[in-house]
Amino acid sequence: MVYNNSFLETIRTYSSYLSDNIIDNLEKGKNMTTVELNSLADSNIYCPKCGSLVLEREQPFSSEGLCDHVLFVAHDIGMEYVKDKSIEENYDEDKYEHLTDYLSNLDITTGLFIQIYTPAPNFFGEYIGFDFK
Ligand SMILES: [Zn+2]
Repeated sequence: MVYNNSFLETIRTYSSYLSDNIIDNLEKGKNMTTVELNSLADSNIYCPKCGSLVLEREQPFSSEGLCDHVLFVAHDIGMEYVKDKSIEENYDEDKYEHLTDYLSNLDITTGLFIQIYTPAPNFFGEYIGFDFK
C-alpha cells in the first residue's frame, strides 16, 4: 500500500485522525499494513486514530492508559506489551528470522504496523501495532 504525503503528515503530527478512506483501504488488506516511519525515532508516538499517547520519549514505557487500538508494543529485544496474550504465545522464534516477520504477518486486516528505526549506527527498531476494527 502506498500512502500519500498527507497521510504520512497525519501520522507525523497526529493532529488529526485517519480518514475513512484510509480505514477502508486497511480493511481490504490481507494482513497488517506495514509502514516504516524512521523520522519518528525522537518523537512521542500517538495513536493515529484517537490521538492517545502510546510512547513518551524520555519516559520508561508503561502500558497504563493505552487506548484500545494498541495491539502491541515491541522492540528488537522482544514484546513489551500485547493486548491479546495469544500474540505473544503464538510467536515461534525458530520459525521467523526476525520478530517483525511474525508481527507483520498477523492476520489482522484492520491492523496498522508501524516500524520505527533509529538512525545508524544502531538501527534499533521499535514496533507498534494498532487495530482499527
Ligand atoms: Zn487509539
